[in-house]
Amino acid sequence: MAVPASTDTESWYSRGISQIYDSLDADSDGLSTEEADRRRSEHGPNRLPKAKPVAVWQIFLRQFKNPLIYILAVAAIVSFAIGEETDAGFIALVLLINALVGGIQEWRAERSSQALQQLIRTRATVIRDGETRDIDGEDVVPGDVVLLESGYRVPADIRLVSTHGLEIDESALTGESAPVLKDEAWTGDDRAPLGDRRNMVYAGTVVNRGRGRGVVVETGADTVVGRLAEDVTAVEGGQPPLVMRMERFTRLVGLVVLVAAALTALLGIFVQQYDAVEMFLFSVALAVSAIPEGLPVGITVALGVASRRMAKVGVIVRRLVAVEGLGSCTMIASDKTGTLTANELTVKQVQLPEGSTFEVTGEGYAPEGNVLRDGYPPEPDLADELSRLARASVLCNEGRLSRRNDEWTWRGDPTDIALLALGRKLGWSRQSALDTHPQTDEIPFEPEQRYAATFHRTDDETRVFVKGAPERVLEMCTDASEGEFSLPALLQQANEMAHDGYRVLAVAEGTVETDGELNQPPSEPTDLTFLGFLGLIDPLRSGVAEAITSAQQAGITVTMITGDHPETALAIARDLGLAESPDEVTTGAELMDASQEQLEEILETTLVFARVSPDQKLKIVEAARGMGHYVAVTGDGVNDAPALRQANIGIAMGKMGTDVARDAAELVISDDNFATIVAGIEQGRVAFDNIRKVIFLLISTGAGEVALVLLSLAAGLPLPLVPVQILWLNLVTNGIQDVALAFEPKEGDVLNRPPRSPDERIFNRIMIERTVVAALVIGVIGFGTFVWLLGQGLSEAAVRNHLLLLIVLFQMINIGNARSETTSLFQLSPFRSPILLTGTITAFLVHLGAMYFPPAQAVLGTAPVALEQWLVLGVIALTIAVAIELHKLSWKARYPPCSETEDQPHSQTHEREA
Ligand code: ADP
Ligand code: MG
Repeated sequence: MAVPASTDTESWYSRGISQIYDSLDADSDGLSTEEADRRRSEHGPNRLPKAKPVAVWQIFLRQFKNPLIYILAVAAIVSFAIGEETDAGFIALVLLINALVGGIQEWRAERSSQALQQLIRTRATVIRDGETRDIDGEDVVPGDVVLLESGYRVPADIRLVSTHGLEIDESALTGESAPVLKDEAWTGDDRAPLGDRRNMVYAGTVVNRGRGRGVVVETGADTVVGRLAEDVTAVEGGQPPLVMRMERFTRLVGLVVLVAAALTALLGIFVQQYDAVEMFLFSVALAVSAIPEGLPVGITVALGVASRRMAKVGVIVRRLVAVEGLGSCTMIASDKTGTLTANELTVKQVQLPEGSTFEVTGEGYAPEGNVLRDGYPPEPDLADELSRLARASVLCNEGRLSRRNDEWTWRGDPTDIALLALGRKLGWSRQSALDTHPQTDEIPFEPEQRYAATFHRTDDETRVFVKGAPERVLEMCTDASEGEFSLPALLQQANEMAHDGYRVLAVAEGTVETDGELNQPPSEPTDLTFLGFLGLIDPLRSGVAEAITSAQQAGITVTMITGDHPETALAIARDLGLAESPDEVTTGAELMDASQEQLEEILETTLVFARVSPDQKLKIVEAARGMGHYVAVTGDGVNDAPALRQANIGIAMGKMGTDVARDAAELVISDDNFATIVAGIEQGRVAFDNIRKVIFLLISTGAGEVALVLLSLAAGLPLPLVPVQILWLNLVTNGIQDVALAFEPKEGDVLNRPPRSPDERIFNRIMIERTVVAALVIGVIGFGTFVWLLGQGLSEAAVRNHLLLLIVLFQMINIGNARSETTSLFQLSPFRSPILLTGTITAFLVHLGAMYFPPAQAVLGTAPVALEQWLVLGVIALTIAVAIELHKLSWKARYPPCSETEDQPHSQTHEREA
């Protein structure tokens, strides 16, 4: 969509910066908290006019968009036309109730997902009271000074004051996909189109790379995007597996119903010589039996329950269906830093160029500790060298570490903060270094560059300080020394540190040739002097090693994808039990050269991908999917977004993650912890199990009713149950039970079995057999009882009343059967799931009520039943428990469960069950 220049009436981009500060009554030091509060009440919160929420009636109407419902609706209309008003009315009522229940569920789900979205709101970094602060994006006001960093959403319309390689993705606004390089010094006339205004950034766009600083000129509805008043953030989700399966299933049921009804009609009219009206009633009864009316509601509830349970373990579901997809994942490609490790870096070792090694004491970011060699402070000449290294470390740094009220506070990248802490241990604060070396420019750290550089003015020259991955930094250094201290030897030294599990940074400094002015943007430094290596320790996150073991036992391939050095990555992978040998490590460079077949081979054997750039990450994900994996990918940076989108399940980090990554993901992990993903997978599997249980319960009752109706028809008997009664069974009694079944807790150790294949049908072999057995019992035993009751000389209505009660009893017992596919009904305590117990009892009480409540009697044809009949029907109903128990035994005999003692926590199973 093109934005006409005229929408920007204020022409912020064509005025000088001092003019802008004046008109905003602000300056480069930012606002005070009081002033910001005042402005917030004046301008209101910085948010877009809310996208019109889906109206309640729309949600309600959506419930009718279902082929099964269409069939029922037609049945209701025809029933009405042929004078069966009660039936028509009841079907209509049931459709209404169904839509109401489904609608309420969906509305609740929508509301709770909105509440969860709040947790992952855009944040903004601003200067308030002279300090850098992270605030909620909604609290940004005009006049605020904002800092921009790659991966973050621009919170408001901002006039830039300074930029460092700032590239903005403005596609959301302009449709132009190439990122725009911003420049605060750009000037243009007041007719410049939005895409050309390089001294402005606009709300809703995204920082692709670089850094920037600017002053907020418009917020909320006054921003360009606010005035467009169109929802630009809408994300389109792919078809999730469950929805695909349900659609396939629904179509199948619809088809079966139509064929069955047509067949019945033919059979009735031509063989049994029924009249057409009677026949139609039969057909309606059949259709009503076969259609799983309660299914949509049951599934929505099961997914809703799962997403609430996931939220409890820290997984925020952005798209409901990802709940179930997470259960089917066969491979997790996880970030290292922050997800597997704590991302609380501490410099523990320092190596100077000539080889002397120092140990750094103290943990964490508080700069309390010393730099010692064999337990002693360094000699003066080495102390000087250390001091230079420390100065470079604090100068080439984007972090902040300061003392406030006797407490250390920090902000920024953990690598940077760790270096600031080291600097202080060696007597350098960033401020003290900047006093003599004011900064003039920088090349900020970006993962694919793997280094950062800053430029500083001293009395007579411009100096550059660099830190980054050793091989990158050493490339920029002059090979001043020979033999032992040559660059290759140094690289070897760095590798050894990495091998010991350190995350290694190289630090260097140099002079830049300038003719007064620096190049814009600065180019990669050269001819540097190498200052030393820093070995950082990143402790493992607690619980991650265990989580990796459970994921492996669950048949999931766990791989690490990192930008770090292969040796460091392997050392950490070993500690985590993720990988063992160097053969399981592949670097990004090796991937680039691989052919398609080689790539597949690499994927078969690799568990650690190191020195991987974001585009290589995408390649890995694509290849894994191509091999049939159902891949969950974690990511946090802006460059991870393509891989997150490409993944079956994209998982973004809630704490350290960027806005872009979160937008691209299906799930957000609130604590960035790998263990949380595994907990989420467990919930996903439970959800899928419960959905199957719900479906089994509904379909076996429905199929049983179909059998009952067909048998009666074939035998030339009257309708065993009228459509209203069947609807009652399917929706009311079964409906209550179904919703309760969706709350079932996990059954056994769901993580102790291989993942199901993503294209496995819900109706697999065991489900089909089980459903047929249950349906046969309900149909055949029900028919036998029907015949027997008719023989007792009861009226048709009385017989139906008894039969209806029998099926309610069948359902009550069958819900016990449904609780486990393999475990005996008698081994599952009914008190394990209070909700299920309550649901079952409620369903029964509702039916009991209907037998005694006159209006219900009138509609349903129910009546009280004598005690001895109760007993007889109760005993008959027990047959369904016997039959299913027998089937469970027979299944176990044919497919003995694989023994669980043979698990090998350290070797991963790459083969997956088809
Ligand atoms: P990871 O996958 O562990 O998060 P990154 O992609 O963040 O790795 O970093 C890759 C490499 O870049 C690191 O091994 C390190 O050498 C270097 N590096 C990381 N952070 C910084 C930083 N802030 N400044 C300079 N170099 C860095
Ligand atoms: Mg990182």
